[in-house]
Amino acid sequence: MNEKDRVINDLVIANRILAREEVVDAYGHISIRNPDNPNTFFIARSLAPQLVTADDIVELDLDGNPVNDEARPLYLERFIHAAILKARPEMHSTVHAHAEDILPFGIANGIPLRPVIHSGSFIGANVPVWDIADNFGDTNLLVTNMDQADDLARTLANNNVALMRGHGFVSAARSLIEAVRMSVYLPRNARVLSRAVHLGGDIKFLSQGEIDARNQGYKPYSPETWRTWEYWAIKCDCGHMLVKPDENNE
Ligand code: MN
Repeated sequence: MNEKDRVINDLVIANRILAREEVVDAYGHISIRNPDNPNTFFIARSLAPQLVTADDIVELDLDGNPVNDEARPLYLERFIHAAILKARPEMHSTVHAHAEDILPFGIANGIPLRPVIHSGSFIGANVPVWDIADNFGDTNLLVTNMDQADDLARTLANNNVALMRGHGFVSAARSLIEAVRMSVYLPRNARVLSRAVHLGGDIKFLSQGEIDARNQGYKPYSPETWRTWEYWAIKCDCGHMLVKPDENNE
């Protein structure tokens, strides 16, 4: 299997994992930069992630336009991925989803969404909130052009995650596996934080040092990272699709 086919194979697995873990439902999407061309990326055509196969993957440029002739409908919000991958050359995978547990933190002012559990440390110390109304007034809240997506990418800045007021979140990561892992643990961190707020009293967030310690020693296919990927892939009936890359090539 060549690198491009492996990336597309893993993108299919990632779609199924995000559906199985309820990060996405009929809506939400994940992308991965083309390993052979940093100016294009792969993403599914407009389809529920649970249903995505390799034949449903399309290649888009960093303006959100299809590289090849494509008659099938595309995600209306594909521009989110184009803008973030354009603004963040070090990042290779992005997720946009509407996971319910994160939504309160985009509409309430009191408590910021920050890491409170160790697996939530991947989201980083700062999670900015983007409000489409700030620069675009009354819209249907969807990011449907590059102007809006570039604005969102500017709010994301150098962070890993941004919330979208009344809508959802975006996340960016160095690898597909990391994007999936971050997007699975983001709503869980949000749920724990919400419950802690309900218990009352002061919230003890992870310290900057704890967040940094958790994110040191990055290896795309460390045993710990692969363990989660393997577990989630088997859980969503994609165990037969697992391809462990040659570590020497990573
Ligand atoms: Mn959306």
